[in-house]
This record gives sequence, C-alpha cells and structure tokens, in this order.
Amino acid sequence: MFARPVNEKVTLDRINQFCGWKNLKPRSFVVPSRRATTLCDNLWTPVDRSCIQLEVFSSTERLSFVEATKKSFRATQVGESFGPSWSTHWFKLSYVIPSYMEGQEIHLLWDSNSEALVWSLDGQPLQGLTGGAGDMVRYDMKISDAAKKEEKGTLFIEMACNGLFGNGAGGTEEPPEPNRQFQLSEAAIAVFRRDIWNILCDLTILRDMASSLPKGNPWRERALIVANAVVNEFSFQDKKRISKCRDILSNFLKQKNGDGQASIVAIGHCHIDTAWLWPYDETIRKCARSWSSQLRNMEMFPSYKFACSQAQQYDWVKIHYPQLWSRILEKVKSNHFVPVGGTWVEMDCNLPNGESLVRQFLFGQKFFEKEFQMKTKVFWLPDTFGYAPQLPQIIKGSDMSYFVTQKMSWNRYNKFPYSSFIWEGLDGSKVLAHFPPADTYNSLGTVHEALLSVSNNQEIGVYNASLMLFGHGDGGGGPTPAMLESLSRMRDLASLPQVHLDRTPTQFFEEMQKHQDELPIWFGELYLEDHRGTLTSQSFVKRNNRRAEEMMKEIEALYSILYAVYDVSYPHETINQLWKYILLNQFHDVLPGSSIGDVYKDVRVYYKKIFEQGKELLNKGLGLLSRGGLNKVAPELVLGVETSCITLEEPSTVSNNSDKTENAVSLEERELDIRISNGKVVAIIDKNGRLCSLRLGDLDREFISPGQFGNNLVLYEDIPTAFDAWNVEAYSDDKPLPIQQPPQYKILANEPGKAAIQFSYSIGENSTLNQVVQLCAGSNMLEFKNRCYWNESFKMLRVEFPTTIRSDRVAYETQFGYVTRPNHRNTTWEAAKFEVCGHRFCDISEPGFGLALLNDSKYGYSAKGSTLRLTLLRSPKSPDKECDIGDHAFSYAVLPHVPDFPCEQVFTAAHKLNREAGEESDWLPRSVAKGKTVFNISVESDDGRNGILISSLKKAEERNALILRVYESLGRHCTGIIRLAQQLPVVDVEAVNLLEEKQCQSSADYSVPVFRSRDHVRVSLRPFQIVSLQFQLG
Ligand SMILES: [Zn+2]
Repeated sequence: MFARPVNEKVTLDRINQFCGWKNLKPRSFVVPSRRATTLCDNLWTPVDRSCIQLEVFSSTERLSFVEATKKSFRATQVGESFGPSWSTHWFKLSYVIPSYMEGQEIHLLWDSNSEALVWSLDGQPLQGLTGGAGDMVRYDMKISDAAKKEEKGTLFIEMACNGLFGNGAGGTEEPPEPNRQFQLSEAAIAVFRRDIWNILCDLTILRDMASSLPKGNPWRERALIVANAVVNEFSFQDKKRISKCRDILSNFLKQKNGDGQASIVAIGHCHIDTAWLWPYDETIRKCARSWSSQLRNMEMFPSYKFACSQAQQYDWVKIHYPQLWSRILEKVKSNHFVPVGGTWVEMDCNLPNGESLVRQFLFGQKFFEKEFQMKTKVFWLPDTFGYAPQLPQIIKGSDMSYFVTQKMSWNRYNKFPYSSFIWEGLDGSKVLAHFPPADTYNSLGTVHEALLSVSNNQEIGVYNASLMLFGHGDGGGGPTPAMLESLSRMRDLASLPQVHLDRTPTQFFEEMQKHQDELPIWFGELYLEDHRGTLTSQSFVKRNNRRAEEMMKEIEALYSILYAVYDVSYPHETINQLWKYILLNQFHDVLPGSSIGDVYKDVRVYYKKIFEQGKELLNKGLGLLSRGGLNKVAPELVLGVETSCITLEEPSTVSNNSDKTENAVSLEERELDIRISNGKVVAIIDKNGRLCSLRLGDLDREFISPGQFGNNLVLYEDIPTAFDAWNVEAYSDDKPLPIQQPPQYKILANEPGKAAIQFSYSIGENSTLNQVVQLCAGSNMLEFKNRCYWNESFKMLRVEFPTTIRSDRVAYETQFGYVTRPNHRNTTWEAAKFEVCGHRFCDISEPGFGLALLNDSKYGYSAKGSTLRLTLLRSPKSPDKECDIGDHAFSYAVLPHVPDFPCEQVFTAAHKLNREAGEESDWLPRSVAKGKTVFNISVESDDGRNGILISSLKKAEERNALILRVYESLGRHCTGIIRLAQQLPVVDVEAVNLLEEKQCQSSADYSVPVFRSRDHVRVSLRPFQIVSLQFQLG
C-alpha cells in the first residue's frame, strides 16, 4: 500500500522530528525555528494569555486552602519570579473564554517551573502540575470539553517553591539551595487539538516499534513504512487529511496478536518518598497533587488501576484534604485506586528491629481495614535498600502472600537472577515475589519498556507475564495521560506484549500462583549490593530509633501488667501515637540517613516527643509500683524486662555493695600496659588504648590475633563515586589513615565492682574521642563507652578486632534471629557484601567458643577473615552537608564466650548493653539487686538452652487480652514452656497472627500447637519462628 522508504535511520529521524517529543514529555525537543512543523508543538493552539487575570498571595507557611484564600491578593503576571525555596504562592486565576474558542476543548496551561496544585473555587483539589524542563513535566489541565462563549471561571493555584526533587543546588542529591527563585513562565488558556494529540500518540507507537523491535522483525519494517506514509499525508491545514492519517494509523493499530503472546499488567504508581529531598510537610502536599491527578486520569481512562502504598500518606490526605479523601474512597471501593503495601510507611527493612517491622504491618493493615474495609495481599516496597530474611514470615503473618520490589536491579556487582520467584525466609515461610523486569518503578509506558518487560523477564518460559509500574516517581507525580494513551494502544497489538491496564497486582499474583511449582526459590535475605553507607549515616537517627524500640518494650510490658493484674487503664492511644512517630521516622530515606538536613530537624522534633511522652508514661506507671499506689501491693516493686522473662520483684534488702562481690575486678597498671580481670575475663590494654590480649579465665585460649590489636580505631578515606550519604565503597579499605597521636589515659575506677580506664584521642583533622574501657564484676563483656566530637569530611571511623577464631562465616543479629554471611571474598557475590547490616551484635565462632562484637546503636559491620569490624561514624556531604557533624555517644563491647554461637548469652549481653545504654536510657528502670519475685512471665526451653526470647508483651489492639510475642532465636526446633504468674486472670490462650487475628487458612504454616494447663503454656517452635500468643483476660 505504501512504498518502503530508502533509508531506515533517516526516515526514523524524520518521523521522530515530526512527532517532536521524547519520553512522552509534552514539550518539544526540536529547535525553535522548526517548531511550527511538529505535532507536539501544535497541541495547544491558539494559546491566549490576554483572557486571564492573575493575582497572588505569598507565604512562607504551608497554609490550608481556607486560610490562604482569605488573604489579600495582589496583581501579578507571567514573567514574575517567586521565592525563596519552600515558600508558597497562591494564585487566583480568573478567565473569560474568548468567543473564537467556542465549542472547543480548552486547557489551562501553567508553568511555574515548580510543583503546583490547581484548586476549584470551592476548595476542591483538582490536579497537580509540574513545571520546568525535566522529563517529569505536567503543564496542562483540561477545563472544558466544549467551551461556551464568554464563559467565566476562577481557579486557585497553589505554587510550591520546589521541584519534584526538591531544591538541590547544582544536582538532585546536593543540599538544597535556600534562595531559589521560580519564574512563572506560562499562565494561559488554550485550545487543545485532540485530533493532533491522537495522531501524535498513535504515531509514537509506530515510531517506537520501528526503532525498538529487533531488526528483521516484519512489524518493525511495517511500522516504519506506515509511519512514513502518515508524515507524507499529514497537513495541519487540512482536517480531511488529518482524518485520513488517523484512519491509516487505526488500521495498523487494530492488528492483533496470536495466542501465547507475553502479557504485562501495567499498574499506575507514583512513588512518593515520605521525606527525602523535601520535608514531611511537603510530602502531604505531594500526595494531594499526585493523587488528584490520578483521579482525573481515572475519568479519562475508565479501566485504569493505580496502586498506592503507605497508610501514613493516606492518613495525611484524610486529615488535610477531606474532599479529596472522599473521592479517593469512592475509587477504592470501585477498585481503581488500589491500596497496596500494607505498612505504615515504606520503611527501611535493614535497620528497624523485628517488633518495629511487625508494627509497620499492624498499623498499615489496620488502617486499610478501618478506612477501606479491606486488607492488601501485596507487600509493595519498590525502593528500600535491602530486604531482611524474616520478611517472608512477617508478610505471611500479616495476612499477605505477595511481594513486589525492583530495587535489586540496582545491584552493582551481580545481576539478580529471577523476575518471578518464591522468596523463602529464615524460618521457611514462603511468599510469591516479583521484580518488574523493566527494572524501574517509574516506567514511562513506552514500547521500549514493554519490550524490555519481556526480554528481561527471567521466568518468561514459566510464567510469561510481568508487572509494569508506570508513572513519575521519587518525588511523585504519577502517570500522565500520555503514558496511559501509549499503554492503551498496546492492549493487543501484533508483535507487542499484551498490556492490561485493568488488572490489579493481586490478580497478577493469583495468576502467578498457578505456576508456583515451576518457579525458582530464593532463600534468605535480599542483600542490596549498593547503598551500604545507609547503615551508618545520620547516626543520631539510628541511635534514637534503637533507644525508642527499647523504650516501647518497657512501656508496653509495664502497662500490660498494670492493666491485667492491677486494673490500671492501658494508655493505648498514646502508645500507638508514639509507635506512629517511630514508624514514620523509619521511612526508607529517613532512618537510612539519606535525606536533606531539614528533614532531620523534623525528625529530632518527633524523637523529642517520643522520649518526653514515653518517659512520662514510664514514670507514671513505675510510680504506681513504687509509691504503693496499687493497694494490692505492699511496698515497692521493680520491673524487670529481660530477654526471656518479665518480672516484678521486691527490692532485695541485701546491700548491693557487699565486699564479697563475686568475680570482683582487679586492675593492675604495668610499665607498658594495664591488666584488668574479673576472674572470668582477662584483658590487657596497652597505653595507646589497644586491646593486646583477651582471654576467658577458665579457657587457655587467646582471642586477639598475636601481634595485632583489638579496639583498633582506624580512620578511612570515604569518598564514594556518587550518593555520598548512601554509599560506602569497597576501595575505602585500601586507604586507611592512621590515627597519629597516642591518647592520654587515666584510671577512672579501680573497685571490686568495676574497673574503668579513660582514653582521650584526637582523631583526624578536627575530632576528639573520649573512650572508657570498662569491665564489671561478674561480666564476660568488655565494654567501650564513647563520647565523640566529630567534624570530618569524607572520612569514616571504624573499630577493628582481629581475632584468632577461624571460620568461614560470621553471624549477624537480624530481626527475630540472626543471619550468617561469608567473611571471605571468593566470588563476586561474597565480595559485594563488604559492608553488611547487623543489629546488636555480630559473632565469629569455632566449635566450642566464639567472640561477639556488640553495639548499642550501630548497624554497619564489615568482617574480613577473622577480623570483626564495626563502622562507627561517617561524614558524607550530600544531601546534608552537616551530616553527623557534632557530638555522639555510643558503646560497643566484646564478649568472648563458651560455647560457640548460637548461644543464649550473646543475646543476653546484647540486651544488657542496650538496656543500659547512654543517658537517653537513664530513666529506664535500673537493674538492682532483686529480692522476691511477685510477678513473672517467663519462657524456658525444655533442654535449658534459653533460645525462646520475648519480643513484646502488649495489650491486644481490640480485645480484652494480652499479646505475648516470642521467637526462636537460635535457629533450631525447640519445645518450651511459658510460665504465667498466678495473678494474671487468663481464661483462654490461642496463637494469633501478627495482626492479632485468629489463625486462618492462608496462614496455616504460621500456626503453633498450644496446650495450656493452669499456670503454663507449652509451645513448640520451628527455627526462627515468631509466635504471638493471645491471653484472653477474664
Ligand atoms: Zn523512595
């Protein structure tokens, strides 16, 4: 029908120029002199600025619509600039439709080179706009399908002085420029040429088929021929020829696939970071901008599905935008706005402890249940920096079965081998996982990406479907009409995968489930081979998070007992509010330390509230115990929250300062070194503060490698190639910077109860470290308590303990257990794990004994052979140039032990170090010599190795019951007994899931046999199993 053009490349260039856009961005890439000839440049014509009137009111605050629109406005016009960064400018835009636009489709055009939200006169958020020259722009909003002559209208536009990626000076990840100005470069109404738009969208599909299908594919050739014919036929002046072009294109686009074509479930999405290069408050507005835009898309594309995660963001919109919220609820009901994720925020999955992860899901799913009368089956977390090995069990326990991410495509060493697979956790729990093969959560919906979704789908022969997450992400924005037009045309078009816009993620997985027997299995953690600096950056957040987690355990245990035994009301609302603050700060750019400085100002405010209110709760509760405020109790009681028991005890009448301290400590200052010993542990520290020797008293065994030193503080150059706060590179190991000056030292304590030596170091250019090395009577743990003033640039401080222990692996504490990782670099997979996450300890063991390196607030470990290393501080300069500059307090410790790990005493020591950590915990109940136990909940395993640990004791969310959550920590099958104090009025006990629901069919592998007698419950656990027991109270 049409002749074949002579030269493919020239023809493609011609078609491309005729279209005039790239990446479906509705602004031309063509030079100005040629713009009259392109489709893209003729979409809005004519453009009329004269028929609008503009007024503005400016504010440095983020006001509500009602507050802002009451203010007095002044006249303004296109061309004026507005600032500074983060300020807001409310525009009142009044228009009169000129008579020549009568009957036409009319759009508002707006470009403030920033983010903006259009409001109706009566305060309804209508649509978000993104200005500027980036790829994520959105300049226009339809205001009429067929305008009436002289029709008048008024809109408000809330212009925020930030881009989609904040206000980075000279680069996205750079710290914000405080005084950015944003020019209003367009404000107009225009006739939208839908006839040209349709041709442009059709032709773009053909253009992309002609360039992206493999050479030799007949459809590639055919698309080029037809597209070229359309360019030949087209005329801006002749409507008949435009219509003929549409016919030619439609005839091509209606050609269908045969059977067996691969399929894509395309899900609209806008990944909105809850804080990152902008503060939390701006995120609230980003949600309104992005989500209102998606509601408009749903009007234009009735089958379109948009998936949206993070209960916290929903909650913000519910509070701040009630009108928008009610429209969203309608779309949730009709299954177009699809809640996914099931967590409070899209949290970091390395650093929060097990109980925090459980609460992320509990708060997320409960919110969905309350507001949407549904729970999601899909754990949706496209963008966090690695996934802990207990997540499959936690996902299952939260009544979910499916997992979506694409982050593993960021691996910088090894390509993750699967797209659709079964993810098996530490305990054997399995979930279906899918990594969208387009390798992005921000697809543009192009032909190229659709083809990549097929060619990069590793399981294409087993299950030939994949998910495509499309829409502008990171800062939000979401899908544009152009993306939806593009994907709609690929519903069933010969040679392209079939794109389904009308299916949900759950439907995708239900289909995948039919193939589960054929899918590969990935066991254990999903270690991200990138962003390892996030284990250390912004160390105050890590420290506060750890302290807050410890505090909540105390508060909940205390009030559970007060509630169940002493009839004191349980402060559920305050406790849940504190949890919500903690969970919010676990967002995947906040806790990892990759946000701008302004975010951390807010974060500090939240932690202040957490600790002030938490302390008040604790004091109040403990006061009831100590003042005899509970009339059923005689004198004063001490709360004990230990790894496997929770107790109330009467203080001992025996003095704590008995001369006959068991394992009393001795300190001997010698010519070159200092020897401290308590009978259990013997340590020799030289006068440079280095640990020369560490022995267990009853074991003829040296733990520190001969000729080397433990507690070796080493400064490293730490200059990543990009993403300062995110990345630590392996090459930093090659550039240690010696700490030159020997420290000053003094003996701080030399008593039977404790020996302590203080070393004062000067480190790097501008930093100082005061370290107290301490050994207490009766303890196996040699502690190093640090106060540091840190003021470095691109340096990293580590402490290293070269040991004599030979093993090919090191164990690291993770949520509800531990994970082992190789400590060698045999293959690229192992070499990539040069810096890994560990919670309160890591451990290297030989059969019979081992050494643990513990900490009270750090997460970055880097074991190398027999040497254990802990990263203490970093000094990245972007996106926060002040990151970690200032004062720090942290402790670490070494614990030589018999027998080898896994053993209970490492967990016990980790608990002790953390419970007594720093001044933030000074107000926690101190361990005192305890007397008679008057109340006790304890867990004992049958063989005496106490590996079943308590994660939490809390009141049930909805019932008159307590929830005791325990887990098997040692990695073995285990039976045990949970003993309950007589005072607990328990009438029934049953195992519930993490949402505190009764066992249902889908969580059958989560069940646990429970047999109860009068004062105890027998449990039987598989390795690393988490069990939540609900004690119904009478
Ligand atoms: Zn993100």
